[in-house]
Amino acid sequence: MKTVDQISFAGKKALIRVDFNVPLDENYNITDDNRMTAALPTIKKILKDGGKVILMSHLGRPKGGPEEKYSLKHLIPHLSDLLGQQVEFADDCIGQEAIDKSKELEKGEVLLLENLRFYKEEEKGDVAFAEKLSKLGDVYVNDAFGTAHRAHASTAVIAQFFPEAKVFGYLMAAELNNAEKILNGAAKPFTAIMGGSKVSDKIELIEKLLDKVDNLIIGGGMAYTFAKADGGNIGTSLVEADKLDLAISLKQKAKDKGVKLYLPVDNVIADAFANDAKTGVAKTGEIPDNWMGLDIGPETVKLFSKVVEESKTILWNGPMGVFEMETFLVGTKAVAEAVVAATEKGAFSLIGGGDSAAAVAKFNLTADVSYVSTGGGALLEYMEGKELPGVKAIND
Ligand code: AMP
Repeated sequence: MKTVDQISFAGKKALIRVDFNVPLDENYNITDDNRMTAALPTIKKILKDGGKVILMSHLGRPKGGPEEKYSLKHLIPHLSDLLGQQVEFADDCIGQEAIDKSKELEKGEVLLLENLRFYKEEEKGDVAFAEKLSKLGDVYVNDAFGTAHRAHASTAVIAQFFPEAKVFGYLMAAELNNAEKILNGAAKPFTAIMGGSKVSDKIELIEKLLDKVDNLIIGGGMAYTFAKADGGNIGTSLVEADKLDLAISLKQKAKDKGVKLYLPVDNVIADAFANDAKTGVAKTGEIPDNWMGLDIGPETVKLFSKVVEESKTILWNGPMGVFEMETFLVGTKAVAEAVVAATEKGAFSLIGGGDSAAAVAKFNLTADVSYVSTGGGALLEYMEGKELPGVKAIND
């Protein structure tokens, strides 16, 4: 794997694609800076070498032109604090100002470019736009795992302009190495925990995992599609009515492949999708009309926790309930604690990005699992066995 370790950056301009797509509140305060801190090791290594750093990223979903609320300038104060030095800013990611500012950079200095997605050419993977970006640096570094599954100008297309000088940053390398540990050579028993809202989003991964895991735990909203497929009453719980056959066939496939499939046996139910709803507990398949399942129940917590705690490899993607609401976070928290307990006993645990990462962070357990991925969709696609354009572009 070609990484920043293979290059001495002294005097060179490193053009780094980072994923600084961080959440901002209405006053432009960063509410979760994980994606920024994750890129620091790469930036610091290059600066330590005596290199010059030019950072490019997207932020939010602008409509193809500049929008104040998506300006990367809001990140300058915090990024400067994190790096312990003032970060320069160019109001545009291409054009004369970006060219001038990148040329003026001294060794050890950092320049942040304005949001790449202010140009619709970015997401289109426009070659001419990628070429303009490429003029700003001597070496291209991709450290944006969160967008590695997109063939955008700055994540993939640009690499062709650096045939001899394109490498992965440390975050990318760590993400790929940790995903590989799960895909190839996972210690057994290997347990995958799948949750979240829809089975259709994760079906490809689940099918792929059936060839690898010993145990498959399914919780969260997606479990109700299985309960309904079994003919149970699920009240007004989340369901994908057109995926009942799929649920049945998944159960059969698990059986055929000797994978133990664990589904909830009981559920925390509520009379409304609200934190202050009336709640109760119902066995799976016995949810009364007008009630909905919003978390796994206490018996299920015991069942899932035992399986997780006895595992040597754990992959977790998707919460067990509506963990954003205090009333329905118990199941997700208990599973997170079981993952931590297994990790303490020597298991390797990988937490898929997105909501699972947010849940683990909410419970302050991020440091107690083996690795929390910064990629949601990117991790899923990599695990499904797809070649990520951002990875391919460097490897080619
Ligand atoms: P996903 O993006 O598919 O991983 O789904 C994550 C979302 O699923 C979170 O926002 C959870 O609140 C939601 N979720 C988990 N369990 C349930 C449930 N039983 N009913 C409704 N939503 C759920």
